[in-house]
Amino acid sequence: MEFELIRQYFSEPFLPLLKGAADRIPVGIGDDCAVLRPRAGHELYISTDTSVAGVHFFPDQDAHSVGWKCLAVNLSDLAAKGATPLAFTLNLSVPKFDPAWLAAFSQGLLAQAQAANCPLVGGDTTSSPAGSPVVVSITVWGERPAELKRLGRDAAHPGDELWVTGVPGLARLALLGEMHRRAWGAALPADDLALIESLSPFGCQQATERLLRPVVRAEFAQQASGHIHACLDLSDGLSGDLQHLASASRLDFVVEESALIELWQRTLGAEGCKSCSAPMTPAAFARLPSHSLQGGDDYELCFTAAPSARKALLDLALRTQTPLMCLGAVRACDSSVPRVVFRSAEGTESTLRSRSFDHFGVLS
Ligand code: ADP
Ligand code: MG
Repeated sequence: MEFELIRQYFSEPFLPLLKGAADRIPVGIGDDCAVLRPRAGHELYISTDTSVAGVHFFPDQDAHSVGWKCLAVNLSDLAAKGATPLAFTLNLSVPKFDPAWLAAFSQGLLAQAQAANCPLVGGDTTSSPAGSPVVVSITVWGERPAELKRLGRDAAHPGDELWVTGVPGLARLALLGEMHRRAWGAALPADDLALIESLSPFGCQQATERLLRPVVRAEFAQQASGHIHACLDLSDGLSGDLQHLASASRLDFVVEESALIELWQRTLGAEGCKSCSAPMTPAAFARLPSHSLQGGDDYELCFTAAPSARKALLDLALRTQTPLMCLGAVRACDSSVPRVVFRSAEGTESTLRSRSFDHFGVLS
């Protein structure tokens, strides 16, 4: 059963992708080890992420989107370092043999693997006790020429501009809406509820797409990498992820509220704010910047670059159809602890506490 499962869902569907990459993958699925052959003069980049049903995705979520997203979140880490995907492995634990779930999961995984030209080269498949959640653990391998500078979290310069792709917080709107619909977790504050209910079908659809099927910003990152100083992908929320950049680079990061407001206006526009039943109130709209700071699950890129790179970055964003926005700037750290500073539309500055997702946050 185990070997038949592997053959049907993970070996055969991925075979054409593997054959197309035979030069860099001499041995794929089926032996004790896969063998990768990175190009000469390249460094290997490795990243791994685990997704647990009930924590990272809804247990009854469409399995195609689960497959798509589990690989996307890994590829997003490679993109953030400007690395080109080589291959990935999949460790899967399931409490029961569910052919319909496995087929849809495998197809979603394959669609993302094809989009990234990243073959599946091995893994492990285990059963887990009845009633336990599905666990998907993926490791990706990528490569990048060793002569290029690395896009580390510690590489921001004072005077850099701070950029973000997409709309941080967009996925969180869909997540909160879904949790509300399912009566999961604590009741939403009234203003958040009003905000979610005032999203038009267009706004909801954009948020849901980002939550379920994030698009990896790989093409933009690779082409922009010569301009990028520090970079990471947003997985736990802008405020916490920016703190990682600030701490690693030992610099203060300033986020402008006005930029976040403009970003949401661009995104939702007249189309997105208008709902047949409940148009978005100014109070609801005013909550959007806070969603941007807290929202996890966006898998957008956040990076710094010299102001002189502005035009090249904006041109590239247009060419690659990547929404791109300058959110603020990087400046010398004025205390012993690097800070993320939020400057309100009126110009008052406050230090942001990290309010991003922490798996063990309730325990500490
Ligand atoms: P071993 O016992 O030698 O670790 P397994 O019997 O677990 O190997 O797996 C047989 C082959 O199938 C190996 O090449 C392994 O990499 C591959 N494999 C197992 N599970 C998966 C999976 N979920 N996705 C892709 N390949 C898998
Ligand atoms: Mg095994």
